[in-house]
Amino acid sequence: QGEKVMTADIPAQMLTETAETVLRRRYYLKDQEGNPIETWETLCRRVADAVAEAGERPANFEELRRLFFEMIYRMDFLPNSPCLMNAGTDLGQLSACFVLPVPDSMDGIFSAIRNGALVHKTGGGTGYSFSRLRSKNASVRSTQGVASGPLSFAAVFDAATETIKQGGKRRGANMGVLRIDHPDILDFIVAKQDQEKFNNFNFSVAITDAFMTALAEDGEYDLIEPATGDTIRSLKARDVFEQIVDLAWLNGEPGVLFIDAANQGNPTPQLGLFEATNPCGEQWLLPYESCNLGSINLARFVADGAIDYRRLEETVHTATVFLDNVIDCNRFPIPEIEEMTLKTRKIGLGIMGMHDMLIQLGIPYGSEFGRKTAAEVMQFIHDAAEAESMRIAEKKGAFPAYDASVNDYPARRNAALTSIQPTGTVSMIADCASGCEPYFSIVMIKHVMDGDRLILINKYFEQVARAEGFYSEELMHKVADSGTVIGHSEIPEKWQEIFRTAQDISPDDHIKMQGILQKSGVDSSISKTINLPGTATRADVKHSYILGYNLGCKGLTVYRDGSRDSQVLNTKERS
Ligand code: UDP
Repeated sequence: QGEKVMTADIPAQMLTETAETVLRRRYYLKDQEGNPIETWETLCRRVADAVAEAGERPANFEELRRLFFEMIYRMDFLPNSPCLMNAGTDLGQLSACFVLPVPDSMDGIFSAIRNGALVHKTGGGTGYSFSRLRSKNASVRSTQGVASGPLSFAAVFDAATETIKQGGKRRGANMGVLRIDHPDILDFIVAKQDQEKFNNFNFSVAITDAFMTALAEDGEYDLIEPATGDTIRSLKARDVFEQIVDLAWLNGEPGVLFIDAANQGNPTPQLGLFEATNPCGEQWLLPYESCNLGSINLARFVADGAIDYRRLEETVHTATVFLDNVIDCNRFPIPEIEEMTLKTRKIGLGIMGMHDMLIQLGIPYGSEFGRKTAAEVMQFIHDAAEAESMRIAEKKGAFPAYDASVNDYPARRNAALTSIQPTGTVSMIADCASGCEPYFSIVMIKHVMDGDRLILINKYFEQVARAEGFYSEELMHKVADSGTVIGHSEIPEKWQEIFRTAQDISPDDHIKMQGILQKSGVDSSISKTINLPGTATRADVKHSYILGYNLGCKGLTVYRDGSRDSQVLNTKERS
């Protein structure tokens, strides 16, 4: 594997206990007995070497493997989980996101299930649009019977995913999308109320501009049979919207996707239209497209109270080369995916630790200045990634589907560059706030064995509290019990503002943050949760969706505190 890269200039990597546990359980390669045979350093070398080698070994191989290694080892940037797990192994499938078409035929439907199974096996997540399927009870010519409809087929997709479970490393995740004008939309909206069903799916309604216009005018809109194009009947937009709002209020599903906003940003309309996203919603992809993701850890780019733009630019350049290389060393699960992915060469460069950055800068997340700062950084990342992508295009060629008559930007290597992913696991490895989300809690009590209580304090908060002299065990317990830093007189008001958590930030401020980031250099989309307090009303949910739409978001997920049977994270206690 070549000589060892010098690591003298790299600070000894401090992995948190959580990070080490996650890595040992799911990321480090294991021997036959299941014991981990890697460390963080050797994992980073495996990934860096495999990705630097992409295609034919480049002349600057040694430099690339060093740059990649340093960037990952220091956690300035982390690629998505499949890349960390599979690079340099026989599996070699490195992407997190896939969208597979579901054509309106038995052959098409069951091929999609098979293709999805092959993707899940390698750690990828799949998005499907069921909008092409003829509606329940529509006629089937060959058998002279009636069709089962999208939902009964979705149940088969769900069962297949349940069976695979991605080899224990990662659960198979699916997104199921149905257009608001599909005749079966009302069944789809309520489908996940039965908590036994579709547990391997997120369901989202693809909302059109026509629908939003009908809603604004309190008018009707048409349901269209996909097989024939016939209008089946008309519904009052308000009634359907209220159904969606009711159920989203109740337990967060279905989510909404704004499909026309997404298609306005489709860089290659000549190849097809967007119908679905990946499971967490940050990637709109064409049928059979896949995308590999990676995220810049913004927590690492504040120096002396300011953003270190020079180092950020260098890191974005290296990350762009890295993600573009991933496409060339990727082993694609099926030929159709390989073909489509190589036509557009999309990458999803995102961020994590955005809240860490704002905290270090002393700027509240929910403020106008917080949004302005976040937007500037995101635009900077986009522009630096684009500059690098254009440079790669000069050397290796633009993405093959690039067509100057359709694409209103100069030739570059990748049809899409940026998206903001949840970074659910990689942010745990990097010990920072996930994606563009605010921290969920500042002080948390964890129950450990023998009834002991372990107190977990946000690292920045502890540092500030100690430095400013307001740290006390008692206060930390009070913050944990109340679930917020707000309203404790011991904490100076400035810090109460800066350490507001997801629940303390108003829903409108969450949505405004998503909206401004979407407009500030995010090519694809953003995975973000709009947290609503437990007391939020249906009218609040409705208001959120309309605000998100008006601000140009390409989708929205709301979550009302406590509204699911088993909430994954709870501010007060986590066991
Ligand atoms: N994903 C998946 N299964 C999972 C988690 C994620 O298939 O258990 C896919 C999904 O497409 C999601 C994407 O990976 O949108 C990125 O998720 P995240 O950023 O949380 O992944 P990480 O790299 O942190 O594991």
